[in-house]
Amino acid sequence: MPFVESSSLVLPCASCGAKNRVPLSRLTDRSRCAKCQHPLTPIARPVPIESEAIFDELVRGRVPVLVDFWAAWCGPCRMVAPMLDQLAQEKAGALIVAKVDTDAQPGLARRFQIQSIPTLALMRDGREVKREMGALPLAAIQQRFGL
Ligand code: ZN
Repeated sequence: MPFVESSSLVLPCASCGAKNRVPLSRLTDRSRCAKCQHPLTPIARPVPIESEAIFDELVRGRVPVLVDFWAAWCGPCRMVAPMLDQLAQEKAGALIVAKVDTDAQPGLARRFQIQSIPTLALMRDGREVKREMGALPLAAIQQRFGL
């Protein structure tokens, strides 16, 4: 499983298993394994945001980022989670799904003035372009965000 470490993500090579460190802002670029040159599989699962710096770097990348503001105690958030897992898989390489735990990242929750969770926000070029509150079915998420 990929994990976030400082401002990069470790993606294992599907061919040789080598661990490749990819900067967050270049996560969806077509990069190749440093060891065997096999193309690396783009990130296909939600990325947990562990600091504001990581968030800022991630949303500066060239693909849109759908941010899920959630918390562990939030029931509706648990309904949305598997849909976002699916979306991250379907849109791998074209969209990054980021998870912001509002309890662990109160600074980001304040910056985005999150009033209720779950809140989904779509970021392009570092700017929020759309937001929806509440648990939505996957089809509605895709329709409202144009994904
Ligand atoms: Zn490799």
